[in-house]
Amino acid sequence: MTTSPLTLEQIHDLAMSCLTHNGADELNARAVADLMTAAERDGSHSHGLFRLPAHVTALRSGKVKGNARPTTKLVTPAVVSLHGDNAFAPLAHQIGIPVLAEAAKQTGVGVLAMTHVHHMAALWPEVEAVAEHDLVGLACTTYMPAVAPAGAREALFGTNPIAFAWPRPGKTPVVFDMATAAMAMGEVQISARDGHDVPLGTGLDKDGNATTNPKEITDGGVLLPFGGHKGSAIAMMVELLTAGLANESFSFEAKEKDNGDGGPPQGGQFILALSPEIIAGEGWEAHCDTFLDRMSGLDGVRMPGERRHKNRTSNEPRNINTALVEKIRGLMES
Ligand code: NDP
Repeated sequence: MTTSPLTLEQIHDLAMSCLTHNGADELNARAVADLMTAAERDGSHSHGLFRLPAHVTALRSGKVKGNARPTTKLVTPAVVSLHGDNAFAPLAHQIGIPVLAEAAKQTGVGVLAMTHVHHMAALWPEVEAVAEHDLVGLACTTYMPAVAPAGAREALFGTNPIAFAWPRPGKTPVVFDMATAAMAMGEVQISARDGHDVPLGTGLDKDGNATTNPKEITDGGVLLPFGGHKGSAIAMMVELLTAGLANESFSFEAKEKDNGDGGPPQGGQFILALSPEIIAGEGWEAHCDTFLDRMSGLDGVRMPGERRHKNRTSNEPRNINTALVEKIRGLMES
């Protein structure tokens, strides 16, 4: 794979120009460009510029509104509902998370139930944004069917990511963010593009046979949940927390409504914020530091989120797939 070195500023400019050229206003484009730049900065390549062409497709088809203005409503002091106005999710997060954080700081617990958003990104940005308020963050979202429940050969679940951030005031939070599929579809697509095999257990081909060929999974096959029936149960929970609680589409409903343009479908998102200061009380930070320090001090352990947070400290240009950069530039010509 040939790559081109781009600074973070160049990555941001490229995303901004491409999105505004294709119908997003400044506010909507900036929210997405900020997120994609953060993804490239942290080495979350499957959610950086790689996703830009699909975002453009959704703007061009009119599925996603380039001038959306998400709004929030306080249902109770702890429950916030957000109507995304068919925005890309990052703008909805910028608007909803401060309201969620305020609710959690008042009551100890806050729930943000989002509808009419289009999510095709990593979830760590939203849980880290919650942790910046010294709150615990938990987020999940659905997609369109790509994963077969344990025992089945037919997709019902989305790749249904779930992310968690534990705040460490004055330090980087501890964060995990993972698909409940054995592998995120973006990673499978990248493996297919780059000609790499995927581990057995990642998915089935169109005839229901286990395969290590990513193309056989993306072309009519299905992904499998991680960890067999246990991952399958968590993927089911993500469907219920997201679509059930936010009263938005289950993954199978999102597909039925989608225009098939390849861009992110309309869906919902569930974000929970918890205040350790209110729930655990004084001394929570030091108490939890003893656990986290003990864990990270064990031989062989690397903390989730650590790879990204290390990448974040580098100001060097990021190596971006050259064909992708050319494709994005092409999207500004037509
Ligand atoms: P990974 O399997 O790469 O990583 C999952 C988590 O485990 C990360 O927090 C990672 O930390 C951590 N981790 C990885 N390796 C180790 C290790 N050896 N020891 C300890 N921790 C480790 O992520 P996925 O492929 O499952 O998901 C990739 C992304 O795709 C996620 O950001 C997810 O939100 C996104 N996604 C989005 C979807 C959507 O519809 N919007 C759908 C599905 C996925 P670190 O980051 O530091 O490597």
